[in-house]
Amino acid sequence: MLRTHTCGELRAQHNGQAVTLTGWVNRRRDFGPLIFVDLRDRYGITQVVVDQTIHPEAHAVLEQARNEFVLEVVGSVRMRDEDKRNPNLETGEIEVVAQTVELLNASKQPPLVVARDGNEDETLRLKYRYIDLRRARMQRNIILRHQTIKFIRDWLSERGFLEIETPMLMASTPEGARDYLVPSRLHPGEFYALPQSPQQLKQLLMVAGFDKYFQIARCMRDEDLRADRQPEFTQLDIEMSFVEQEDVLRLVEDLMTALVPAVTPHKRVISPFPRLTYHEAMERFGSDKPDLRYGMELVDVSAIAAESQFGVFTQAIANGGQVKGIKAPGCGGYSRKQLDELNVVAQAGGAKAAATLAVEAEGVRGSIAKFFDADQTAALVQAFEAQPGDLLVFVADRKDAVAGGLDKLRREFGRRLNLADPNLLAFGWVVDFPMFEYNAETGIWDANHHPFCMVNPEDVDKLNRNELEGVRAAAYDLVCNGYELASGSVRIHDRAIQQRIFDRLPYTPEEIQRRFGHMLEAFEYGAPPHAGIAPGIDRIMALLCDEENIREVIAFPKTQRVEDLMMNSPSPATEKQLRELHLRIVEE
Ligand code: ASP
Repeated sequence: MLRTHTCGELRAQHNGQAVTLTGWVNRRRDFGPLIFVDLRDRYGITQVVVDQTIHPEAHAVLEQARNEFVLEVVGSVRMRDEDKRNPNLETGEIEVVAQTVELLNASKQPPLVVARDGNEDETLRLKYRYIDLRRARMQRNIILRHQTIKFIRDWLSERGFLEIETPMLMASTPEGARDYLVPSRLHPGEFYALPQSPQQLKQLLMVAGFDKYFQIARCMRDEDLRADRQPEFTQLDIEMSFVEQEDVLRLVEDLMTALVPAVTPHKRVISPFPRLTYHEAMERFGSDKPDLRYGMELVDVSAIAAESQFGVFTQAIANGGQVKGIKAPGCGGYSRKQLDELNVVAQAGGAKAAATLAVEAEGVRGSIAKFFDADQTAALVQAFEAQPGDLLVFVADRKDAVAGGLDKLRREFGRRLNLADPNLLAFGWVVDFPMFEYNAETGIWDANHHPFCMVNPEDVDKLNRNELEGVRAAAYDLVCNGYELASGSVRIHDRAIQQRIFDRLPYTPEEIQRRFGHMLEAFEYGAPPHAGIAPGIDRIMALLCDEENIREVIAFPKTQRVEDLMMNSPSPATEKQLRELHLRIVEE
């Protein structure tokens, strides 16, 4: 090793010791004959000082040194003067007096100041990711990610789980996104698909008898990126045999409850995790991934609204819709402008508008107050258990628009009113998801999760009658602080049932045979009952690291436009490569 200690290691107890440190210049302060350098590595920062009168050669090197130069410093540890100690630095009691300094490498003027975690354009950060990653916050995030994954690996291994790798070059497995395709050189005109998930393979591993499987698995989905998506992301993929839904929920609940305090002792988890059916989550929170750190539940006031004189409300109900609302405590004094902003929030959730009433000691105030008589007003106030000073916010619309609009409003008020404790991880289970999902654009029913979920036994008759809307799957999601963290299900292990599901989905018999024939066949060779789940590692890390965006917890993420700005991908292939792959680029 070039060094005897790291830059985060030296303390008062090392006083007087001869040491060699290596690292980057985080900051340099030049006071003429005295130069101070904060030397940084992944472990911390140590102050190095050189005195020209005593060590002129070392001084000459540090005089030339600039931010991000790489140095080797030989010197001795000494206590700093009482008044110069830095309690914010773990090494803040000491400094290293440099006797010799070797310049291991110079640095051009860096485009990012590592010592300052700035708000510069993210494209600059991504282009120079290797510099951005030197920052303390990014180092902490990546290290915490390692610790989290290691904890998971150890914890599952201790419980008899086997980590098994599955291929990257494979056939398509549907998870609701487009595949990334890889052209085959040896098979002209044919393609591999990159895994949207190892779903089929982990089920086949159960057929193979491995019983308890996990993998820190990379998944690739070609979809239009939303803020919290990446084209490739990491899942903790889990599958178990001879289990029921309850076993999977228990396992993941125990894992999360152990993981969080182990890697982030300042975070709290409340166990047991509450459970909601999908239906209940949508009714109470307007979302299948509610933030459970605060209440502010949706109140259905359709019955009261239907009696009112307010045309927007009565019309919505007459059209088969609903009127629901939430109570924003203490927001009764909102200005016209603030109230108008709420419309924009509701619209972001797919609703047409939000209507409001401010609760006062004597009734309610607001442009729609006149449409409610005294009894209706009292009934509204009572329905929300509202106090003077509260604001009632309503959405009247189709059921899905009411849910969408109020979900956005609830989250917005949660933020504005600081209702969500950032150190609380409010996990919850959402169970009984619908098996099928209707796509209004295409008029097609598709699998809500994926086609391998077991149908709830109570709904088999509905499936047989082709009443797809009400068919529930034994499918569950783990949610936390308003995010979906994991999806999973009990799987079908019976060929006939699997065939029946495929028959309901938009696949031709040839396609079923071509894409899923191996699954149907495997189920004929003694497939055990099995179930699984796949928590998303990136979102878990974002929550543990207090980051909004998952790009902050991924070493080398892609941009919103699915580009790698550092390595310049995607990029054109050479003529030779295209020829080998039997491809021709056609300009449209
Ligand atoms: N393969 C599923 C997904 O990626 C997870 C699962 O059902 O285990 O969402």
